Amino acid sequence: MTSFHDFGLAEPITRALAEEKYATPTPIQAQTIPTVLSRRDVIGIAQTGTGKTAAFALPILHHLFTNRRRPERKTCRVLVLSPTRELSGQILDSFRAYGRHVRISAALVIGGVSMGAQVRALQNGVDVLVATPGRLLDLVTSNALRLGEVEFLVLDEADRMLDMGFIHDIRKIVAKLPAQRQTLLFSATMPRAIAELAAHMLRNPAKIAVTPVASTVERVEQRILHVDRAAKPAALAEILQRESIGRALVFTRTKHGADKVVRGLAKAGISAHAIHGNKSQNQRERVLAAFRRGEVLTLVATDIAARGIDVDGISHVVNFDLPNVPETYVHRIGRTARAGAAGIAISLCDGEEAACLRDIEKLIRMSIPATHHRTFPRQAQPSTTQGRTARPFAHAGGQRRQRGRGNAPRKQDRHEQPRNAPSGIAAVAFLHRNTRSGRNTDSRRGEDGNPKG
Ligand code: AMP
Repeated sequence: MTSFHDFGLAEPITRALAEEKYATPTPIQAQTIPTVLSRRDVIGIAQTGTGKTAAFALPILHHLFTNRRRPERKTCRVLVLSPTRELSGQILDSFRAYGRHVRISAALVIGGVSMGAQVRALQNGVDVLVATPGRLLDLVTSNALRLGEVEFLVLDEADRMLDMGFIHDIRKIVAKLPAQRQTLLFSATMPRAIAELAAHMLRNPAKIAVTPVASTVERVEQRILHVDRAAKPAALAEILQRESIGRALVFTRTKHGADKVVRGLAKAGISAHAIHGNKSQNQRERVLAAFRRGEVLTLVATDIAARGIDVDGISHVVNFDLPNVPETYVHRIGRTARAGAAGIAISLCDGEEAACLRDIEKLIRMSIPATHHRTFPRQAQPSTTQGRTARPFAHAGGQRRQRGRGNAPRKQDRHEQPRNAPSGIAAVAFLHRNTRSGRNTDSRRGEDGNPKG
């Protein structure tokens, strides 16, 4: 699936996605949306950050849109259970955002706030109810809510609900639901207790798993280079000239961007080829074959085009643009360091991408060592160590200049630096020296949201 339009989702939903600037479904979305639309139960093994909320919300909204009916009083048609108040609020926000052109009613039922408003919100019934298990049961017990009309049950972060001691509440809730319903369970991990719960609650579920992020992330040496957008082409050229590259895969967000990067590299005397959807199948295969043979050392690709690239020995992944979807970052960097090899991922990050970087670091639970382009003066490099440390891949053939302008002058001067100011080259070398470690065990690691509700 390359586009949300391929799923056959109702127009008001795809319109909202376009407004959210979601162009491409994430892997969990690509697999889950058609499965839910085909009315099957789903067990999804996916972490936060993978786009799992939209994976269940979109097909459910489609169902509500195409099977419109007024919810009965004190009932809900869709029940979403989540472990924390915070997550419940986020899920409700997502339903509202993706469903902004579909007229639906939605309510939040969480602990820690007074019950009166929640009782009133349920009076006339709602389409979508997002709840934490404890408070939901309180409302059921006090006859403010009946669960006999539920068409969809979603259990989000099931493993965390288990950890937080909600298992009995969940069993009690499920016992009150109609047998005729569709059930979707999402969990980052699949301990035995969750598997048992799923076997008890789901019917012939499709199991959909997306790659766990940790293993990839740990194998790849990652670096961030903060750089102005305008200086990115020069920074990229410097990286490719400076690093000892086996094979480099450069990612851009758009096809147009990929072509532009190739042109920019050509000006710097670096030969690179773009592969993306606008190239013919034939062209793509030719370039890929040359990449495999080592005749082309730098490929510039969009995320979609890169899915077809199955090449070992990629020493470097360079993110010319940071991806909007954090999981895409993990997929991108997973292109290097395959089969136990070492790999380096360097991401160029401009001011507008700071939020993307934050999301990525949250997902991978580490802060990526970063340095700033242009901020390190040449004299800051102790020349004695530079040769060794600036070439982590020295064995792979040293610096290389690809076909083109041979020793033509470099284009680094294009990023307007004052005279005697830090050179981009120096900055990049600094980056190599100082960024080898960087696991971060800060407070993000245990980020757990709010207490149970
Ligand atoms: P989630 O895993 O549901 O918490 O989603 C993680 C983040 O990815 C959220 O900020 C979503 O808004 C965003 N997101 C989800 N799906 C897409 C998509 N297909 N394209 C771009 N962003 C997305």
